[in-house]
Amino acid sequence: MSLFQASFEVQSAAVRVRFGEGIRRQISSEVERLGCKRALVLSTPPQADVAMEVAADLNGLAAGIFTKAAMHTPVDVTAEALEHAGAVEADCLVALGGGSTVGLGKAIAYKTDLPQIVVPTTYAGSEATAILGQTENGVKTTVTDPKIQPEVILYDAELVRTLPVAMTVTSALNAMAHAAEALYAQNRNPMSTMVAIEGLKAFAAALPRVLDNPGDLNARGETLYGAWLCGTVLGQVGMALHHKLCHTLGGSFDLPHAETHAVVLPHAIAFNARAVPDLLAPVTKIFGGSNAGQALFSFAKSVDAPSALSEFGLTQDDVPKAAEIATRKPYWNPQPVTRPAIEELLQAAWAGDPPAA
Ligand code: NAD
Repeated sequence: MSLFQASFEVQSAAVRVRFGEGIRRQISSEVERLGCKRALVLSTPPQADVAMEVAADLNGLAAGIFTKAAMHTPVDVTAEALEHAGAVEADCLVALGGGSTVGLGKAIAYKTDLPQIVVPTTYAGSEATAILGQTENGVKTTVTDPKIQPEVILYDAELVRTLPVAMTVTSALNAMAHAAEALYAQNRNPMSTMVAIEGLKAFAAALPRVLDNPGDLNARGETLYGAWLCGTVLGQVGMALHHKLCHTLGGSFDLPHAETHAVVLPHAIAFNARAVPDLLAPVTKIFGGSNAGQALFSFAKSVDAPSALSEFGLTQDDVPKAAEIATRKPYWNPQPVTRPAIEELLQAAWAGDPPAA
């Protein structure tokens, strides 16, 4: 099937991307290439040891380390990091970690326009977008700005080897969700569709190999390749129902990011497959079956992904509340979004039932 569309528009950012096992040891040359001398290295508390190694490797180009990155980019943590960046006179940022650390780097760059070098250690894909989600008083908002887009991304399979197996699975499904929704995005283009399909194929091929041997660097590298592709389409085209539901569940019910994506994905895709089965045909071609949502549900089961939102603290009473919040403001989605239909979808996702066809 040709991916040609009669009319389309493509906007892409100028980002330098490098892949390689051990490439984190070349961060100093990237700092120099940016014309910088004082890098602030960022991480979460559990990844502070890797951040320290990286800082030590920077051959005098590290101005400091800030290791308090947290999920959903709380603005008070950003304020503290901004103060630290100012105090050490940082002229660039090195974010080493998953979406939380990348989010902190983006939040600092949004305020200061400092260049960012990102070394991702999950598959979340935030490094490839100009989108920043941040939280203040329990409310999550997103902003898109060219200053937020990281300039350099270094994908090092050695760093993702330590990602625990459960997080490996949920983070991979989080990445795949970007690609699945890109297939029917209103502003999709032939290139975004190609990239989305290739991203899904990379995870279909490599994730089972990673689970067989989490230390398999080649398989880890291929999943990172998938993460780059899936993150790239997230940055290029609009997302719909799936991301809206996860945003609601994360923002209003404090559900964990990757796990929520993993559970909701088959349900949201089954729902939209009713309207756009042809656009989702690549999913069934890659994962098997005749319905894209059920194909993803089977794949998720085969990699032992969690399947019920009830496992993450959402209560039965929360289901109608979440459906109400997620349908409060209208937004574009291929299948019309109604409150009863979303409540039914969330009920199945809450209980761990297979998605309705
Ligand atoms: P995370 O960054 O919060 O990481 C989860 C935990 O895993 C942390 O404790 C972290 O230190 C640890 N960890 C990460 N990589 C590891 C590794 N290789 N080995 C061992 N431990 C490791 O989780 P995430 O799912 O990557 O990111 C979620 C956040 O990213 C959310 O806030 C989400 O909103 C955001 N996000 C933003 C975008 C965007 O484009 N703006 C895209 C995707 C995700």
